[in-house]
Amino acid sequence: MKLNITLFGALPFRRISKTAKRLRRTHLKKDAPTITTCSNCGAVLAPHRACTKCGFYKGKETIKVSKEENK
Ligand SMILES: [Zn+2]
Repeated sequence: MKLNITLFGALPFRRISKTAKRLRRTHLKKDAPTITTCSNCGAVLAPHRACTKCGFYKGKETIKVSKEENK
C-alpha cells in the first residue's frame, strides 16, 4: 500500500503545548499610546508634534491655527 504523503502539505513537527503557546503570547500585548501636553496651552498631544490647538512647538509658534479651528 502506498500512502499519498503530499496530501497533507507542511505541518508542524509536534503540537505546541498550552504553556509554550501562552509563554510565547506573553509578549503580545498593546500598550497605551504615548501622550504629552503642550507647554504653551496644556492640550494633550502626540510627542514631537506641533500643537494642534495653538500651533506651538518647542516654545515657538510654528504653524498658524485659525480661531475657528480652536472651537
Ligand atoms: Zn498648545
